[in-house]
Amino acid sequence: MAKAEVSLEHLFRVFTKPEHDDSTLAKIERHLSDNVSDFLSQHVVTKKTSLEEIEQDFSSPILPDSPEFVSSHAQSLLEKLVAHSVNTYAPTFIGHMTSALPYFHLPLSKLMVGLNQNLVKIETSKAFTPLERQTLGMLHNLIYSQSDDFYARYLHSAEHSLGAFCSGGTIANITALWVARNHLLGPKPGFKGVAKAGLVQAYKHYGIENLGLMSSRRGHYSLGKTVDVLGIGRDNMISVESPKQILSPELALKVGKAYQESGNKLLAIVGIAGTTETGHVDPLNELAEVAKELGCWFHVDAAWGGATLFSGKYRHKLKGIEKADSVTIDAHKQMYVPMGAGMAIFKDPAASNSVRHHAQYILRQGSKDLGSTTLEGSRNGMAMMVYSSFHILGRRGYELLIDRSIEQAQAFASMIDRHPDFELITSPVLSLLTYRIRPQVLSHLEELSEDAQQNINHQLDALTVSVQKQQREAGKSFVSRTRIEVEQYHQQAVTVFRVVLANPLTTEDDLQAILDEQLAIAKQHKIFKSLHAINQAKIA
Ligand SMILES: *Cc1c(COP(=O)(O)O)cnc(C)c1O
Repeated sequence: MAKAEVSLEHLFRVFTKPEHDDSTLAKIERHLSDNVSDFLSQHVVTKKTSLEEIEQDFSSPILPDSPEFVSSHAQSLLEKLVAHSVNTYAPTFIGHMTSALPYFHLPLSKLMVGLNQNLVKIETSKAFTPLERQTLGMLHNLIYSQSDDFYARYLHSAEHSLGAFCSGGTIANITALWVARNHLLGPKPGFKGVAKAGLVQAYKHYGIENLGLMSSRRGHYSLGKTVDVLGIGRDNMISVESPKQILSPELALKVGKAYQESGNKLLAIVGIAGTTETGHVDPLNELAEVAKELGCWFHVDAAWGGATLFSGKYRHKLKGIEKADSVTIDAHKQMYVPMGAGMAIFKDPAASNSVRHHAQYILRQGSKDLGSTTLEGSRNGMAMMVYSSFHILGRRGYELLIDRSIEQAQAFASMIDRHPDFELITSPVLSLLTYRIRPQVLSHLEELSEDAQQNINHQLDALTVSVQKQQREAGKSFVSRTRIEVEQYHQQAVTVFRVVLANPLTTEDDLQAILDEQLAIAKQHKIFKSLHAINQAKIA
């Protein structure tokens, strides 16, 4: 390892751009700029496959004592880190909500990092703060479409905010429900409000036994973190049974009423616009009415599905989202923005005043500092990447991308449906679907007894797990897996492949190749062989 001298002169050079730069770092930079996907595609199959092997490269707890030359460090990053990173750009990487990014983010992100603004307060961000407020306003408009007067009045108002920018959907959910909690348990005569007096006093003054949060069984695990952080307690996360993968308004009302009749209070109903596991959208319009009847907040978790609002053709699937008090959207999912961009959007521009915080040295009263209503403190200028994407792709560009993903998911679903050895488990509502391998000899599975189904499902579960792992390790493609209860098998939980279509460069040939590979792996498996033999014997 080439060690640099330990001197201030050397460190000054590290802080400045070299005049003639032919270092490894410069080469990496050029290589990345030339073609990021080329660069990444060299590393689809990594030499080291096991995590334990990779851990060997990161095993020393000793902090390096002396400086190292940037070039030599860059070289070691190439070898240890880049070579073993996951290629999320591959068109056959269709297992997660993280996908390829448009190329322009690479040069533009240099602006963000280079300027190193801190959005917590205007003194360290200036133009970035108005930009962030405008970006939040654009999303507010996309969801709620208020009048020009409304946006002229609130977009840059020091006493209001149309949303909170944060690092992701988890923080956005926590922020939205923090606002909801402080709103519900706010100040009243004789009580200073939960923000000052705390939960114990709040429950006492409002005569509440417990506060609860309701969502379908498919609610994202960040909601569990939310009730924990907010002090409500995980036992008060009411996950309502959802046989059809959605929260039934009738059941929500029934469960909510029963909960409130026993001395509790429902903080909020969370409607999900695109569940993480199956991509289903709750009946938002009806759930908004249920929330109204129960007198609670209505939050919509559209972290993944929110981008559907760009599509004139499919935005109707999110009908009722405009009735939500707050909405979570992740720009780092279907909005093709780099990791670390989430937003909570509030219908009422005054809503976030329930969490407003002032400090003397920053965040002074009446300032437009965004830090006074965000959970996080120091934050980077990630809003710029959202702002730029909105301009470079445009609503119509996004519409094309979203429509393509949804229609490709539909096409993939029919490929699976037509294939005798595969079974579509959940059809795509948006661009996410689940399926599994079910050998043709078992096409009558739905007609068998519950016990017989259970027995076979156990074997198919093991087959799915095994195929998914082997396919991942082979390194050509990646499909994820999850376990869900399904209607067609008496609510038995089954293990399924999960596919999220997002990369516009994924082709139908890629999808066909993924199915072919899965079936080829399965056919080598003893479970497939024995299921085949047994059932063929039965049929004969
Ligand atoms: C991804 C996701 C989240 C969490 O977002 P992060 O950005 O991972 O924190 C929450 N809810 C839903 C529905 C999601 O898809």
